[in-house]
Amino acid sequence: SFFSDTSPALVFGGSRGMGAAIVRRLAADGRPVAFTYVSSPAMAAALAAEIEQEGGSAFAIAADSADPEAVRLAIEATVERFGSLGVLVVNAGILIGGTIDRFTIADFDRMAAVNVRGVFAAIHYAAPHLLDGGRIVTIGSNTAERVGSAGSSVYAMTKAAVAQLVRGAALDFAPRQITVNNIQPGPIETDMTADLMEYIVPKLPLGRIGKADEIADLTAWLTGVGAGYMTGESLTIDGGWTA
Ligand code: NDP
Repeated sequence: SFFSDTSPALVFGGSRGMGAAIVRRLAADGRPVAFTYVSSPAMAAALAAEIEQEGGSAFAIAADSADPEAVRLAIEATVERFGSLGVLVVNAGILIGGTIDRFTIADFDRMAAVNVRGVFAAIHYAAPHLLDGGRIVTIGSNTAERVGSAGSSVYAMTKAAVAQLVRGAALDFAPRQITVNNIQPGPIETDMTADLMEYIVPKLPLGRIGKADEIADLTAWLTGVGAGYMTGESLTIDGGWTA
């Protein structure tokens, strides 16, 4: 079968923050949605139950994106449950801060494993299952465009890697009409930014932090049938921060 606006979706990192908003939005739009988590089983179960209660179809899968085998198994479980896969959203990501002189090798490896290799693994293992005409969306960061503050170099590097991986992936999957795009949020109100609010808000031209739903809206559009001519793009959505 070919991709449609009700083809199943899998969201890596869907239990909290932007990922949860994306899961809710895709489910509300009529897609069966599977999503992964690593440390929040209760939140993941509650989100799946909430969607089921509202008449949608959702289930949560424990899978650390740093573990490629877990990523592969999450994709297999989704295809087994839903019968196909039309949309892959790779949102799982971590932020470890620190200037390079103090940044440890272990933290470098952990962030690269989740933010870079985890994205590659998700696309790699999903590829054979994705419907022709399907959608891949990654969540990068506006720090790929402008690092903006000290202590963010390694995080920004991982997100810049994602942006370029997406450009190449768009070319790799173009023959199958699968589009691949990267959303680059600026500061969004989630657990990740809870401690940074005071520092961030005065720096934002729009004078406020972004909402997870605003990222979910863009994801919904990018993953819809109507977005079929956009591929390989990184879309920055950051309240004007990088303007
Ligand atoms: P949160 O920390 O609020 O949520 C992260 C989500 O990803 C959770 O569902 C978490 O699962 C999951 N996750 C984290 N690590 C892993 C892992 N190793 N394997 C599987 N799932 C994992 O983050 P945000 O919603 O703020 O961020 C989402 C994405 O957006 C990230 O890629 C981040 O880098 C990016 N981003 C965020 C910005 C912001 O301002 N918030 C700005 C720009 C980009 P669990 O609940 O189980 O821990």
